Amino acid sequence: MTSPAYIGRFAPTPSGYLHFGSLVAALASYLDARAVGGRWLVRMEDLDPPREVGGAQAAILRTLEDYGFEWDGEMVRQSDRHETYAKVIDRLYEMGLAYACTCSRKQLEGHHGIYPGYCRNAQHPQHDAAIRIRVPELEYHFVDRVQGEYRQHLGREVGDFVIRRRDGLYAYQLAVVLDDAWQGVTHIVRGADLLDSTPRQLYLQELLGVSQPRYLHVPLIIQPDGHKLGKSYRSPPLPADRAAPLLARALRALGQEPPDEFADCRPREVLDWGIAHWVSGRIPRCRTLAEAHLR
Ligand code: GLU
Ligand code: ZN
Repeated sequence: MTSPAYIGRFAPTPSGYLHFGSLVAALASYLDARAVGGRWLVRMEDLDPPREVGGAQAAILRTLEDYGFEWDGEMVRQSDRHETYAKVIDRLYEMGLAYACTCSRKQLEGHHGIYPGYCRNAQHPQHDAAIRIRVPELEYHFVDRVQGEYRQHLGREVGDFVIRRRDGLYAYQLAVVLDDAWQGVTHIVRGADLLDSTPRQLYLQELLGVSQPRYLHVPLIIQPDGHKLGKSYRSPPLPADRAAPLLARALRALGQEPPDEFADCRPREVLDWGIAHWVSGRIPRCRTLAEAHLR
């Protein structure tokens, strides 16, 4: 069996509705896949029930449909994948590659988010502890298709990081790597807020012996007040009756040049135009874009 040349995905977190920034990321991943006849998957990253907004999963899928997106195969939910995550964590723990950490938030204060390694050699049992993965004293780097070369020294800039929280919830970094590998994802297109997560994911891929996808990070859309349109920002759902103009606007945010009359056609026509004219090299090479400056 030959594996397909391109499998892309959109992986929303249901901690809020889709906003214009997530539309830009969804559109970029969709067009980049479809422009080369690739597959495009949707995966619901529902790892954190306490932070999930009721009805957000259904609303996200509804918005994608209203905006004309069609995904391949069944949508996958990370909440259905716990068994896999647990098995991998057990294996890493038994091999000594991961360890239990009982540090309190207070103990970790003043370390700028870089874990100081207190529990590295403590041999705590897994029970009632967070699980951290040991990182090597190495710099990881990759060439992003838009942002170019990106480097990060895992030991100095990140430290041993959490793969299962103390409350038992699985961490995004591990789940995303396992699922992208399991689903055969070859190309990851997502927001630039995840640029600095990528080296951790490269390290996990290496450790788990899975192949490394290619990466493209699109600019994050920010509000005039500098507010990120991000996970923690509660924006209302994207209006279904403005799908075409908002898609055209998202295209422009991605450096594409759709004709002006797109404001009043069907969303599907905007997407088809986007597929036919997609040039990823036109995506602005910056980490953030102010929504106010977009046409
Ligand atoms: N679920 C993540 C988010 O909503 C995206 C993960 C990814 O694309 O790697 O920010
Ligand atoms: Zn600790």
